[in-house]
Amino acid sequence: MKTPITPAKATPAKALPPVPVREEDRLAALQRYELLDTPAEPAFDQITRLAAKLLKVPVALISLVDHDRQWFKSRVGLPVQETPREYAFCAHALDTDGLFVVGDARQDERFADNPLVTGDPNIRFYAGAPLRTSDGLALGTICVIDDQPRHALTPEEEEALRDLSAMTMAHIEARRAVGYLHPVTSLSNRFRLLADLDAGSADPAAASGTTVVIDAAASQQFAELTRVLGQVCADAFEIDCARRILSCLPERTRLYHVSPARFAFNLPRQPGGEAVEDELAATLDRVSAAIRSPFQYQGVPIATSTGIGFVQRPDIPAGSVELLRAATSAAHQSLEEQKPWCAYDEKQDRAAHRAFLLLRSLTEAMGGQDQLHVAYQPKVDLRTDRCIGAEALLRWTHPELGPVSPAEFVPLAERTALVRPLTEWVIGAVLRQVAQWHQRGIALPVSINISMLDLGTGDFADRVESLLDRHGVRADWIDFEVTESALMTDRAEVDRQLHRLRRLGIAVEIDDFGTGQSALSYLKDIPATAVKIDQRFIRSIAAERSDQIMVRSTIELAHDLGYLVIAEGVETQEAYDWLRLHGCDIGQGYLISRPLAPAAFEDWLATGAFRPAAMPV
Ligand code: C2E
Ligand code: MG
Ligand code: MG
Repeated sequence: MKTPITPAKATPAKALPPVPVREEDRLAALQRYELLDTPAEPAFDQITRLAAKLLKVPVALISLVDHDRQWFKSRVGLPVQETPREYAFCAHALDTDGLFVVGDARQDERFADNPLVTGDPNIRFYAGAPLRTSDGLALGTICVIDDQPRHALTPEEEEALRDLSAMTMAHIEARRAVGYLHPVTSLSNRFRLLADLDAGSADPAAASGTTVVIDAAASQQFAELTRVLGQVCADAFEIDCARRILSCLPERTRLYHVSPARFAFNLPRQPGGEAVEDELAATLDRVSAAIRSPFQYQGVPIATSTGIGFVQRPDIPAGSVELLRAATSAAHQSLEEQKPWCAYDEKQDRAAHRAFLLLRSLTEAMGGQDQLHVAYQPKVDLRTDRCIGAEALLRWTHPELGPVSPAEFVPLAERTALVRPLTEWVIGAVLRQVAQWHQRGIALPVSINISMLDLGTGDFADRVESLLDRHGVRADWIDFEVTESALMTDRAEVDRQLHRLRRLGIAVEIDDFGTGQSALSYLKDIPATAVKIDQRFIRSIAAERSDQIMVRSTIELAHDLGYLVIAEGVETQEAYDWLRLHGCDIGQGYLISRPLAPAAFEDWLATGAFRPAAMPV
């Protein structure tokens, strides 16, 4: 809080303090040192106490000259925390080479009318030494004030004030350095990198050139390593990574430790075209090889996924925060694509932005009424041409982005905790619809898409059972289409849940059959009732011999194992006829109908193009 200085309504000083030459740089530096408006610190207070004692004055201050005020980091004998800059004696001291001394302020026309002279603290004598950074910018002063005039300082007093100024500055620099070091590796930290990128002073390579970010482990992996093997191991890992990376860098390159298991460095941009690019590539290759070899901890080799990304200035004319984000995004891409390193790619970055935006708005979409809908696509018995069910397909109309395909947002949700509430939302919506249709005599089972990740959660079948109860829906009014997920799941748990669903009386179809990596073993293990052949084999089945061979043998195999066979992506009459001829049981595709809103689905049923099969209600 500002303490008003006396007199409360101050009159302007006669002479305004001069404006230092590099004022903008000076103010920026003052911000970077993060001293303004911070609590008192004993080390500074000891210096001001010493100043008052050595120079035998009632008031000693460490004053920081901000753009419109002077703010006291430490003060002895003065009750106010700050004064307007226009009254500040210290503001006159900034550009002096040595000390700024005013013997008697009342006799000095620059200060005679100054409220600090005419009122409290009644300054008569002032001596200040600038606090200068290594770049020559004065942040403020250390000064001594007396309410009695003095002719001059003795040489000893002058020396003492200069020494105190040097001590204060040394402490300011040390204080800053500590705040800029990573406690584990003692490397410069993220704040230092951002400051260097902005200033380009401490690290000349930062101002123009290449900023490289290195992920020595995926964040999940590093968290896991910390959890399982403990903080000591995690620290040792980071220290070892820092050592390895440093050994690959050109001499005097500053390495930064920006966040857990993440490092960065800057390389200067040199004129020279390809040769320089080659040099950069060679450095990145060396770093990549160095961090890929497993880290040894108590004899146990620990391998991690790594990523390296870089961004070049002035390709990105952005601020430090954006620059670091862009390089981090490139490192992420390198990790995801398992490439040794990646340059920042704006297109990829935009996609990542969109993914983030989608995930952020999905929660809101699930909570609202009008963004998410379910469309229903008929399934037809190929022998009788009758509609025997429908597949529920999720639709999302994003308020800004418009319609977003489930093929885009479902896999995103699968990578976060959102997949579970999303599946629950779909199940709820479908059960409400199915209950309503049954009440109105439309008795068709509806298939709901779920991912393996839903089944890995342990209580999926229980939740389904209670939802069926809540909506008054019979187990055989719905079924589940399960897609194999590329993501890790607990297979034993998946099987347990599927068996539970089957015991409840819910049919299970293997979706997108033929696209997974373990399709055959999958077919053998999973307690399913039907196999749904992926549409990529079906769309041109009438013309493609290889598709025909695949589909014919899949139908045979699936039938031999006791499964029904469904074909998705039936787009032509030829495909429909071929499938019927070769014993496929059920067809689904644009030829029959596109996915429809519930009312349109009812209209479609009413046209009787493909008649619904009778089904017990
Ligand atoms: P899917 O389960 O294999 O669904 C079939 C997809 O093929 C649907 O795309 C459908 O609109 C489309 N399709 C149907 N017939 C034809 C055809 O004749 N030709 C062509 N070219 N396409 C056809 P959609 O609705 O965009 O869904 C894409 C995928 O998103 C689905 O593939 C499914 O994996 C996933 N998905 C959709 N809704 C949900 C949901 O509620 N939950 C989950 N977990 N995944 C869903
Ligand atoms: Mg499906
Ligand atoms: Mg499919």
